[in-house]
Amino acid sequence: MENTNEMQLIFDSRSSNESFARVTVAAFMTALNPTVEEVSDVKTAVSEAVTNAIIHGYESEVHNIYIRCRTEERTLYVEVEDKGRGIEDVEAAMEPLFTTKPELDRSGMGFSFMEAFMDGLSVVSEPGKGTTVKMKKIVGKGRKLWTAQPL
Ligand code: ATP
Ligand code: MG
Repeated sequence: MENTNEMQLIFDSRSSNESFARVTVAAFMTALNPTVEEVSDVKTAVSEAVTNAIIHGYESEVHNIYIRCRTEERTLYVEVEDKGRGIEDVEAAMEPLFTTKPELDRSGMGFSFMEAFMDGLSVVSEPGKGTTVKMKKIVGKGRKLWTAQPL
């Protein structure tokens, strides 16, 4: 389709790949001409989702993490999927401060950050099957397209 662009990334669930994943998504979105802040928001959200897949989804075993990205007009869509243990109660998991790993010094704020930094978040999960986090970011919302001054 015109005005859309897509990419997919499959990588091992090692924490050493977390920065690689967020930088790759950041590079993909540069075509939308984002601000530094918009790029930073997306990096934070991707980073939280990938960390969750590594720590909770696969519980530090090494398996595939799948990222699918699409831009459409000025919106970036990002999906982060693992085929790990899944989430029993998604609604509870998404509450601020909810964590099942307090012993690992987790603060339970990952989903709250994803929600705060993106313009849409949905989580689909099935116990024993895995989790898909879908997010979107509208780029250039604050951008002025006109000026009253002569150019
Ligand atoms: P923090 O992100 O602040 O380090 P956290 O990871 O526990 O702590 P969230 O990212 O908000 O907090 O996730 C909340 C809970 O949801 C997790 O503790 C975990 O139980 C569950 N969860 C999140 N992502 C996944 C996933 N990919 N697979 C399985 N469970 C998950
Ligand atoms: Mg987390």
